[in-house]
Amino acid sequence: VFDRAETGRSHEQVVFCRDESTGLRAIISIHDTTLGPALGGTRFHPYAGEAEALADGLRLAEGMTCKAAAAGLPLGGGKAVVIGDPARDKTPALLRSYGRFVERLGGWYVTAADVGTTAEDLDVIGETTRHVVGRTTAAGGSGDSGPATARGVFEAMRAAAGRLWGSESLAGRRVGVEGVGKVGRHLVGLLLEDGASVVVADPSRAATDRIRALHGRAVAVLPRVRDADVDVYAPCALGATLTAAAVAELRASLVCGAANNQLAVPEVDGALAGRGVTWVPDYVANAGGLVQVGGELLGHTPEQVLRGVRAIGDTTREILEVAGRDGLTTGEAAGRIVRQRLARPAHAARSAG
Ligand code: NAD
Repeated sequence: VFDRAETGRSHEQVVFCRDESTGLRAIISIHDTTLGPALGGTRFHPYAGEAEALADGLRLAEGMTCKAAAAGLPLGGGKAVVIGDPARDKTPALLRSYGRFVERLGGWYVTAADVGTTAEDLDVIGETTRHVVGRTTAAGGSGDSGPATARGVFEAMRAAAGRLWGSESLAGRRVGVEGVGKVGRHLVGLLLEDGASVVVADPSRAATDRIRALHGRAVAVLPRVRDADVDVYAPCALGATLTAAAVAELRASLVCGAANNQLAVPEVDGALAGRGVTWVPDYVANAGGLVQVGGELLGHTPEQVLRGVRAIGDTTREILEVAGRDGLTTGEAAGRIVRQRLARPAHAARSAG
């Protein structure tokens, strides 16, 4: 743990949580609290073992530090992983037990939803801890973050379009959206409103049926969009779709989407730049959900949250400007901005709520 330092900083605190009575085995990773308390979701996943769970949690927590810093939020990065099959093991008793461990950290780790957990689960976790955001609106939370995440991706895409094609409008551009779930389906609506021509791919029949019901023939469903004839590829399903082979087949000039950890290996950043493809780093484009749940924690008004989501466009412009000026890849330029913000915190909140 002490030697891992992709951002030049290793993790501050890693807590293993075990409760025999409920079967809970969880790992809470607090990466960095320079800018404020660590916020990040709880992933519930049937990891093969402790080592795999730890590696995933550490990587995800570090990603949250970058995401919060890039979004200009006075928040640090953390993440929790629960080892287990959500369909079988996610009992209310286990979630309450997990909440008690979160509570013990005194607010330096604040949890939210992630893969395998929902706003309803957070309502249960919230029975035993105050340090939870993203609960259902009925329970006083800000609910589903899919629409805010989609809005942030859209703002990032428009900013990048402005730099590439001289106009921030996506009218007449062909955009391929991979995955039309909680984020992708809202992104499709925003793109159509802006006049883009949209194609989508999703193996889930329910997801594509919903898109057809919402937009009829305005949206074409393809088996794959990654190598389709599009101007923009928007990965909004799983991460690691940008492999070296996939980059060689890309026909898009811009990649901008919601999926976390889009690069299969870090070197793909250079391969994209080498092919003249503009990549908006995932943690920059997909921060809208964090701006929403972070806003809940920070007491922001809906207008402040909307401004924060729109600012994702400004950050994207800054990254593309720095990359172009200094001959960096977009990943390197974003990393530099994150390191600067961590080195000179503008409004660090050194006390947890
Ligand atoms: P989701 O599970 O609601 O939707 C994902 C969709 O992708 C599903 O409809 C699924 O059928 C589809 N899919 C799966 N494999 C696919 C493939 N090979 N090709 C095309 N489609 C495929 O998830 P979501 O909340 O919409 O999140 C999408 C991505 O964005 C995830 O990587 C998530 O980690 C990331 N993200 C989400 C949020 C948020 O606020 N929900 C915030 C930040 C990042």
